Amino acid sequence: MNKHILIVGGGYVGLYTALRLQRKLSRELRGGEARITIIDPQSYMTYQPFLPEAAAGNLSPRHLVAPLRRVLPKVRILNGTVTTVKHGDRVVTFQPAEGEPRQIAYDVLVMAAGSISRTLPIPGLTDIGIGFKTVGEAIALRNRVLHLLDVAESTEDPEVRRRALTFVVVGAGFAGVEALAELEDMAKDSVRYYRNIKPSDIRWVLVEATSRVLPEVGPEMGKWTLEQLRERGIDVRLETRLESCEGGHVVLSDGEEFDAETLVWTAGVKPSPVVNDSDLPLDERGRIKTTALLTVHASPGAFAAGDAAGVPDVTNPGQYCAPNAQHAVRQAKVLADNIVRHLRGQELLEYRHKYVGSVAGLGLHQGVANVYGVKLRGFPAWFMHRTYHLSRVPTLNRKVRVVVDWTLALFFKRETISLGEMEHPREGFRAAVATMRR
Ligand SMILES: Cc1cc2nc3c(=O)[nH]c(=O)nc-3n(C[C@H](O)[C@H](O)[C@H](O)COP(=O)(O)OP(=O)(O)OC[C@H]3O[C@@H](n4cnc5c(N)ncnc54)[C@H](O)[C@@H]3O)c2cc1C
Repeated sequence: MNKHILIVGGGYVGLYTALRLQRKLSRELRGGEARITIIDPQSYMTYQPFLPEAAAGNLSPRHLVAPLRRVLPKVRILNGTVTTVKHGDRVVTFQPAEGEPRQIAYDVLVMAAGSISRTLPIPGLTDIGIGFKTVGEAIALRNRVLHLLDVAESTEDPEVRRRALTFVVVGAGFAGVEALAELEDMAKDSVRYYRNIKPSDIRWVLVEATSRVLPEVGPEMGKWTLEQLRERGIDVRLETRLESCEGGHVVLSDGEEFDAETLVWTAGVKPSPVVNDSDLPLDERGRIKTTALLTVHASPGAFAAGDAAGVPDVTNPGQYCAPNAQHAVRQAKVLADNIVRHLRGQELLEYRHKYVGSVAGLGLHQGVANVYGVKLRGFPAWFMHRTYHLSRVPTLNRKVRVVVDWTLALFFKRETISLGEMEHPREGFRAAVATMRR
């Protein structure tokens, strides 16, 4: 039959779908009756729930990514972007990392392109805002926070100092709260090495448009989290919107204005833009219109799951599955099984999973959890957060490396150096060339 299964995106859904297909179709892959391709700009899958810990310096950035080629030896990995999908012709346009775009034909399509930050047309946002979805963003933020402590320590200008030590996070969901809590914890830990900065000199502002934080852990634990953050001195502003941040001058809808050097935007996600450049049907929220069988509505041979897909939640009629890893991993399993069934002409299975709640880390030894109705806070929740994510991070290799990182952190103080110069590696050399011209 030689069926070509093309997976757009090598994140949660892409990696886990391919892993299962690699196993379930091993005979067909060996015999040349099936082949699998993943297209992704990166050569690795990022375990996003560990991004806050990487930003805080508790985990090495290399240990929260799974290398696709090593994990999926029977799958062809192409690095680049899918720019258009013409499912009617069973073809995508592939823009490789270098060189001309080309068309790639397929028989079965898996749309697993995930999501990007959902932004708003706020003046100044594109100038100073940074997201929190990639390893690059998490590490850049870590470098930035530490660099700004250096700036504050070295300046004699109180305005420069105040601006450097003011950090704003917009959006109080998972990503925003965890990122802020971990970075605040790291900054507090780091100031002991600075003569002129006290923890209370650093201002953290969390701006949230709704009336609650961390809705993922339910109202009671969300309220507890809010109290915890405020006790730590974090300025949490509920029912408040960011109006503008031109040139780093932050204006909030409650009338407050101040300068900040750093603004992290974590106010939700929207589907990867490739879904708009496809002939696949979209739902009212712009996601791929998907059935409970994880097939794309009225598009035989096309499957979708994860953040880019609007998957009906059959345990909660009328609602959709939330865009989170809990669903993405489980959907990938059903999706892979359904592709095998599709190829074998068997009946497809329905995706059914009742959201079990969530765990979140709030800095070293601090956390909050609401899982299967069991509510935990502080150290037990933090411990649960770590053990749960350790059990979930893909491959034994990564699990061992994560445990080693954590164990080292028990015995040695955390690294608090900014390696921001890595973001501009040619600057030193350019300066050397400039001296030659002179
Ligand atoms: C900081 C943070 C913390 C989180 N914590 C949790 C948590 O604790 N629990 C939880 O359940 N969820 C959590 N999530 C959410 C979870 O990570 C996502 O829901 C999950 O990654 C979605 O999986 P996905 O496969 O749909 O997308 P992703 O894992 O994002 O993968 C999408 C992939 O598609 C690729 N791609 C995009 N566009 C294209 C294109 N045009 N062509 C080719 N490839 C493309 C991307 O490069 C990416 O590799 C967190 C998210 C963040 C950002």
